[in-house]
Amino acid sequence: MTPDQLKKTIGAIPDYPKPGITFRDITPLLQDREAFAAAIDLFAERYRDSGITQIAAIEARGFIFGAALAKQIGCGVTLLRKPGKLPGATVSQSYQLEYGEDSLEMRADSLNSNDNVLIVDDLLATGGTAEAAAILIKKAKAVIVEAAFLVSLNDLPGEQKLQQQGVACYTLCR
Ligand code: 5GP
Repeated sequence: MTPDQLKKTIGAIPDYPKPGITFRDITPLLQDREAFAAAIDLFAERYRDSGITQIAAIEARGFIFGAALAKQIGCGVTLLRKPGKLPGATVSQSYQLEYGEDSLEMRADSLNSNDNVLIVDDLLATGGTAEAAAILIKKAKAVIVEAAFLVSLNDLPGEQKLQQQGVACYTLCR
């Protein structure tokens, strides 16, 4: 399955979660076993043998793609979670979301300077979430290899925001 074919499995829900917003719905892709497998295979082709030690997966849909990809390329999964969900000491970074403000947390002991990290999420919109992820990984002094998304919204500045952090993006569907 090509990225163009994958794109056809992604839905558009008008006026969700607010009037005027079109939500890109990846749940049909997840339910289509060929499409889900193809998405993971396309990511794996790019990242296999690239020395990635950890996938930093962003809650919640990033967990799905991040975990499946980690199994495929043979690395660990570091969870970047919404506040208050992780046990033990955490580092935190707040960010502006497309629909409000939020923050991401990571276990303080998850990553170190020996780690080569791939950020994974389902979708890149304004880039606030992925930027917070990048800042958390940098706080741990780990190397960010790239940030990978199933979908990027072209009319929003997500990629530029990540570029300003020195992070390159890879996206399957635009
Ligand atoms: P950003 O911080 O780039 O504005 O928003 C990206 C984050 O919000 C991602 O974690 C993503 O899961 C979620 N998100 C924002 N808009 C959408 C959307 O239209 N569809 C999906 N599936 N997720 C979205």
